[in-house]
Amino acid sequence: MKNISVIGSGTMGNGIAHVFAQCGYNVSLIDVREEALKNALDTIAKNVDRQIAKGALKEEDKTKTLGNIKTFTKIADGVKAADLVVEAATENVELKLNIFRELDAAAPANCILSSNTSSISITKIAAVTKRADKVIGMHFMNPVPVMKLVEVIRGYSTSDEVTQLVMHTSKALGKIPVEVNDYPGFVANKILMPMINEAIITLHEGTAGVEEIDTVMKLGMAHPMGPLQLADFIGLDVCLAILRVLQDGYGNPKYAPCPLLVNMVMAGHLGAKTGKGFYQYTAGSKDLVVADRFKK
Ligand code: NAD
Repeated sequence: MKNISVIGSGTMGNGIAHVFAQCGYNVSLIDVREEALKNALDTIAKNVDRQIAKGALKEEDKTKTLGNIKTFTKIADGVKAADLVVEAATENVELKLNIFRELDAAAPANCILSSNTSSISITKIAAVTKRADKVIGMHFMNPVPVMKLVEVIRGYSTSDEVTQLVMHTSKALGKIPVEVNDYPGFVANKILMPMINEAIITLHEGTAGVEEIDTVMKLGMAHPMGPLQLADFIGLDVCLAILRVLQDGYGNPKYAPCPLLVNMVMAGHLGAKTGKGFYQYTAGSKDLVVADRFKK
């Protein structure tokens, strides 16, 4: 593995491009929006500066890391020589299926096609290609340069050889890969999302307030962030979408999203990214302030 193509240069794509480039891989970063590519390079430069300030990287690593990244706006141009593709485009089934059709036609025949999807079936994505044995999930965690875990998801037809190569490549990035099978939510979100949903139900039923619920989970269970703050950080629309995947995939009412979550998403209160969720966010401030609606 030498040449890596990353599709999508948003929150996850820029982090994934960053870690591969820092580890010496040639990275082709592809996004349909020029502006997203420019923002990604700015973000990577800022994050490398932060690592230099902490003493984790040297000044020359910045030139090396940024020098390893080329940008493209067309998939066909950016995957010609790829050994591994990591798709991190918007979480939308039809969009991802189209991207994988295009990747299958444009990438070399032996290239491994992976997806960073949080919840879409790897088996479904693989089925639109002619290389289902070479399609796999590489689920990085946010923020990618910091978080150690890569959830490696084997689709129904993913080969042992491809799984081993992806496990090995994840380790080469300094990450800790964990192999799991392809069922709704994989492992991370199958366990995390019901916990977040239960925290929202607890709030909705009036058992406790936002700060109280988060404090119990932080101090009682040693979680670094309470479930409601974490939901805001992930995005309430993303949480809702994943719960729907669990509900549809298992047909079990225990995954039904709390009506309060559904209302908040319909109202456009999506968490940190929109400035309002369970907490309210002001640009430039790191204070955690409970949203007016949930103040006692
Ligand atoms: P994002 O919205 O920040 O970025 C998505 C990028 O994809 C955008 O820049 C968009 O322009 C680009 N894009 C859309 N269509 C494209 C196409 N056809 N070709 C190339 N680029 C295209 O999203 P994100 O938060 O980075 O999420 C990306 C993926 O990672 C999703 O599948 C998501 O489920 C998964 N994920 C997200 C997180 C998280 O915390 N944000 C964590 C783990 C996994």
